[in-house]
Amino acid sequence: MQTIGLIGGMSFESSAVYYRLINEMVRERLGGLASAELVMHSVNFEEIVSMQKAGDWTAAANRLGDVALNLQAGGANCVLICTNTMHLIADQVASRISVPLIHIIDETARSLKAASCKRPLLLATRYTMEHGFYADRMKTLGVDIMVPEAADRTTVHDIIFNELCAGKVVESSREKLMRIIERAHAKGADGIILGCTEICLILDPNRLPLPGFDTTAIHAKAAVDFSIGEEAIKETAAA
Ligand code: GLU
Repeated sequence: MQTIGLIGGMSFESSAVYYRLINEMVRERLGGLASAELVMHSVNFEEIVSMQKAGDWTAAANRLGDVALNLQAGGANCVLICTNTMHLIADQVASRISVPLIHIIDETARSLKAASCKRPLLLATRYTMEHGFYADRMKTLGVDIMVPEAADRTTVHDIIFNELCAGKVVESSREKLMRIIERAHAKGADGIILGCTEICLILDPNRLPLPGFDTTAIHAKAAVDFSIGEEAIKETAAA
């Protein structure tokens, strides 16, 4: 089993979901009391949020690059940045380590294409929806994403930072997100990217009017595939 390295804490609410999903998938595939070999470095999110607000992506890249190096030194055979937003500096982080960085946009694009989803709506932080790094990489990978209109982008961003990252799941916010999804559906969206690793706390990807793509679950599964893909196949073959 390969050791999974997680850069967590952004926020810890979603890191907890990664930890549970990865372990559940390993147990399901290997059986018995199998669980994941993983190391997590969970950062102080307040520090990262200050860098985001200041637009100091260089400082953030240096900080998360140091964390990735520590994970590698601690035995990680791959590294995941457990947030979509901080993939803005994923290339800089990847350049600091010699083990692979499992990229959330690449894995999500793979899932979208497997489902023949061509025009998904992205629900995410303002940075992810507006900075361009997400849409550009998706386009390179053959997926043309749609983002909500400006007022709706503010609504989604605020729900993420004021509620979900603070551990609050508010019913009226779920309804607001559903209305944003309905508007995108009317404009031709054919899928919904839960493009923030906390959105799965408020929206069930299987209970949306369009196919849902939960980046937390997609990313966690990619880590498990990396870690035990072959072992799971061997076990199945031997059974
Ligand atoms: N976890 C969120 C994401 O997937 C937002 C937190 C952050 O800004 O990193 O984008």
